[in-house]
Amino acid sequence: APPVRLQKALADAGLGSRRALEEWIRAGRVRVNGRTAQLGDRVAATDRVLVDGKAVRQRSATRPHQLQVLLLHKPEGEVVTRRDPEERPTIFKHLPGLRDGRWITVGRLDINTAGLLLVTNDGALAHALAHPQRAVEREYAVRVQGAVTDEMLQRLRDGVALDDGVARFTAIQFAGGERSNQWFHVVLREGRNHEVRRLWEAVNCRVSRLKRIRFGNVILGARPLPGQWRELTDEEYVGLL
Ligand code: URA
Repeated sequence: APPVRLQKALADAGLGSRRALEEWIRAGRVRVNGRTAQLGDRVAATDRVLVDGKAVRQRSATRPHQLQVLLLHKPEGEVVTRRDPEERPTIFKHLPGLRDGRWITVGRLDINTAGLLLVTNDGALAHALAHPQRAVEREYAVRVQGAVTDEMLQRLRDGVALDDGVARFTAIQFAGGERSNQWFHVVLREGRNHEVRRLWEAVNCRVSRLKRIRFGNVILGARPLPGQWRELTDEEYVGLL
């Protein structure tokens, strides 16, 4: 974000009127990056601003404000592609307009998968978070058809050979349901194509519902509803970095 006048940054942070804040600056109550501020100073989101020795949380203290990261609750039946050759509905129609850049998703979900999808206009961030080296945990709620035995669960934890190499769930928890129609919560630390479905298929089970409920420290709660989004909180954003 381009720098703005200090009194504007302070007013945006909710500290008072610009006029009053100019007085505070004149009175030497405001410091920027360790130096007493002067009227006319400009600050950027990354500058450290103190008033009476206390840190001011600039509206964009932890992230430049043109940088956005959204949590979209992807509905089933939509594709995570900008242009679909088959012209199926895409998730992009749910997203707000952008002042800067374009929306990039952090990985993808299948058309018949619902749940948490991070979307950002920061390409480097999207790339970093999806990178295998990061091994960010992705947690899914999955409904499985087929009788599931403890032995199968153990195989899924130990590792199963898929076409593109061995894969495993780093955690599996029973989450309810009846025999042959059970829910599990499973955790992966990578995001290969159809990976959850392929792992279950490898033990002769079919996935009939799949929903991502967590990506790293970011949890999908009861809201947003499918097709809706919210911005990450500062805490969530910092936790992802
Ligand atoms: N694994 C799958 O099989 N599908 C998804 O959409 C995500 C993970």
